[in-house]
Amino acid sequence: MGRSLQLGDKVVLERQHLQHLLDVLSKRGYRILGPTVRDQAIVYDEVRSLEDLPAGWTDEQNAGTYRLKKRADNALFGYVVGPHSWKKFLLQPDVRLWQAKSDETGLKTVESKEERPRSAFIGVRSCELHAIAVQDKVFMAGEYVDPSYKSRRENLFVVAVNCVQAGGTCFCTSMKTGPKATFGFDLAITEIVNTEPHYLLVEAGTETGAAVLSEVAHREASEEEKAAAEGAVEECSRQMGRTLSTAGIKELLYRNYENPRWEDVASRCLTCGNCTMVCPTCFCTTVEDYTDLSGQLAERRRRMDVCFTMDFSYIHGGSIRYSPKARYRQWMTHKLATWIDQFGVLGCVGCGRCITWCPVAIDITEEARAIRESELSHGTVT
Ligand code: SF4
Ligand code: SF4
Repeated sequence: MGRSLQLGDKVVLERQHLQHLLDVLSKRGYRILGPTVRDQAIVYDEVRSLEDLPAGWTDEQNAGTYRLKKRADNALFGYVVGPHSWKKFLLQPDVRLWQAKSDETGLKTVESKEERPRSAFIGVRSCELHAIAVQDKVFMAGEYVDPSYKSRRENLFVVAVNCVQAGGTCFCTSMKTGPKATFGFDLAITEIVNTEPHYLLVEAGTETGAAVLSEVAHREASEEEKAAAEGAVEECSRQMGRTLSTAGIKELLYRNYENPRWEDVASRCLTCGNCTMVCPTCFCTTVEDYTDLSGQLAERRRRMDVCFTMDFSYIHGGSIRYSPKARYRQWMTHKLATWIDQFGVLGCVGCGRCITWCPVAIDITEEARAIRESELSHGTVT
């Protein structure tokens, strides 16, 4: 340890000192959430020690394919992203909006207790920081602020991890959302495994991050170690196999509402909704009212929902998106076009989850490319 660290400082933690960081965060009252292996996938859940992290595991991904494999080293963050995203902790999947009780004195609204959970997310990738920023716009930027989301968001400590290997379905480089974390973190780790012993280069992104890091066993980073971390992230960017051209994407999709490609993708899409459930930015919800059998207790709840169901667009007598074509088209057009009108940003951060977890391997980058190329081949666009 030694001097107090400042915002922007970069230091080296030996692998085992990450446990010290977890202990410091725990002592400060944070619930530690991070990657762990469960059901043959890397998921996000409560972690208590280094033992819970996916040491020595990597994920092999392609369209419709996900496999865990052992690595030749003991990397703690040697995987990319799994089926979970951080939204499950920020955007609660089931929230009571209000509750009312009736008794002999009449109907009264029951006050809910204000929750202010303090969480520390360990291992947030750059694309995921962008996804959290997108949901911040949805739930905190406008006139209507979501109190449940806001309280979770404001009490969050973020430990980002810079990607040093690209996943098989990632395309963050073309979405300008990665692989290096550039904002939204308290600490950012780059894990360097090709040295003995392997180490973590850690950067303080906030004053709180610097204060936490000052309490953890560390040493100064040499210029070579800083350069090695930069080089590893740049190499990751070069490895990325998929791209999605965002040039004029909103106008492209608006012009192509009747493109035959929508029929083509609909003939493959099962409308299972997996793509929306794994997507870190999708936020569809439904509202349901309940009354108990005595008729004395009523409540309204908000639950996560999926825009691929018929019910989601059901209004007085029928669904307005009754065909798979209409549902896939609205999902992709929302991600890449209407989202821009609503929130000023794209709704896709290029994490690749919807490609990996689609059971029939539908690839959003391929679908967007096919629509763009169909215009070019018909000479309808310059
Ligand atoms: S695109 Fe794939 S994951 Fe999404 S609803 Fe269709 S079949 Fe399911
Ligand atoms: S649309 Fe697909 S690639 Fe884009 S953020 Fe959602 S899951 Fe990731």
